[in-house]
Amino acid sequence: MSQSSKTYTPTIGIECHVQLSTKTKLFAAVGNDARDARPNTLISHICLGMPGALPVLNAKAVELGARAAFALNTTPAAFSKFDRKHYFYPDLPKGYQITQFEQPIVLGGYVEIESEGVKKKIGITRAHLEEDAGKSTHPAGKDYSLVDLNRAGTPLLEIVSEPDIKSAADAKAYARELYLIVKYAGISDADLYHGNMRFDVNVSVSSDPNVLGTRTESKNLNSFKSVEKAAEYEIKRQIELLEKGEVIIQETRGWDDAKQRTFSQRGKEQAHDYRYMPEPDVPPIILSEEFINEIKSSLPVMPDEWRNRLLSLGLSRSQIDTLLEAEIDNEAVDYLPIIESNLDNPDVAKFIANYFVNIEIPMRHDGSVSDKLDNQARSTIYIAIDRLIQDNKLSSTNAKALLTQLLKDGLSPTDIEEYAAEQGYIQESDSNEIEKIVEAVIAEFPDAANDVKNGEMKAIGFLTGQVMKKSLGKANPGMAQELIRKKLA
Ligand code: MN
Repeated sequence: MSQSSKTYTPTIGIECHVQLSTKTKLFAAVGNDARDARPNTLISHICLGMPGALPVLNAKAVELGARAAFALNTTPAAFSKFDRKHYFYPDLPKGYQITQFEQPIVLGGYVEIESEGVKKKIGITRAHLEEDAGKSTHPAGKDYSLVDLNRAGTPLLEIVSEPDIKSAADAKAYARELYLIVKYAGISDADLYHGNMRFDVNVSVSSDPNVLGTRTESKNLNSFKSVEKAAEYEIKRQIELLEKGEVIIQETRGWDDAKQRTFSQRGKEQAHDYRYMPEPDVPPIILSEEFINEIKSSLPVMPDEWRNRLLSLGLSRSQIDTLLEAEIDNEAVDYLPIIESNLDNPDVAKFIANYFVNIEIPMRHDGSVSDKLDNQARSTIYIAIDRLIQDNKLSSTNAKALLTQLLKDGLSPTDIEEYAAEQGYIQESDSNEIEKIVEAVIAEFPDAANDVKNGEMKAIGFLTGQVMKKSLGKANPGMAQELIRKKLA
């Protein structure tokens, strides 16, 4: 490949379809959770687009759409409305999708990401409510296709970003942050495996920073990794074409996860004319100021606010992100509220956060934490263990061992110090006791003792080790070393 001296700037914009966590569909009182349902069992005359069927707007979907506005750092539109977007496909029985084209429920806003240590604001163009289509499957080797309409009419929020994303890594960071946002705001279950979030990634490159290149759209990506890989692949592919003097074709592309590449699906010449028109059967959404204020005050603590609170403890960004993701991985476990309830004592809060990140969360990933401990019991255990460390009664090694045992067995002893003592975790900090052991060790290893006297400090480590061994690991090592120094000074 020829190398030119040109540098290319990538420009990326992302559209994300988020499935709203309502019980029923956007315009029909039909169940919404198609995950384990047999094909075509969650349908009604409305989902099938029967003549004369009238859609009835789901109030919960409107509430979640309004909530999304605040989650995206803006305010919901007081007035928004629906339009018909026409296209013909077997999984769209009406021949049109009901969507918000002209006046969406969310206009503007932003998502803040951090990538490679730099904070960046990615603008949000808009977010609109719309219904999902059904699902077509094309069995291999057969001369027919199958249509399942369970998903037809499922409420979606399509979140459209500004083309503010400048690299594949930032695209991934944006997708991940959007996931945290919709999950924390309670807008979506955000089950990526079941397609609750689907990303369309628009990529162009240009050697002139003032002129945008021709863009391609890679559709229906359902993981952060594939967002990153597809953006990376498109950037590279487009630069290579331009370097060869070829042109980029504006087109829709798919992502082949097995081959880790994008492929052409349809070109611009086949692009649809959607013949948008106002939806006559669904009245516009008019939100009162009172309703908007209510939604605003019901928004829970969002990821960014959690980060600010946790940063004050001196935790690293990656530790905080581990906590933020763990919190939503298991809804029964309240990592963040437990840390927060101790914020008036930052040392304790930081201790708990560190132990969550280093011990409990990895144990949960292995499935080795008992379900028997509730949040209250766990909170008590962490606070008690920290106290025992502060009082020099537990070494950090033994603290980890004790905690691991309690989490694994699901035990919450009423007196944790007593339990730790019974189990042999409490370290000896009685200087008389340790002194006796130190004296015995010095007598047993006179050569090492002489080395210490002659200033060979390595021997102190050896003798301390012997004291620990003799005390069966219970001696406070700091205290033992101090006593050895004193004796041999
Ligand atoms: Mn859409």
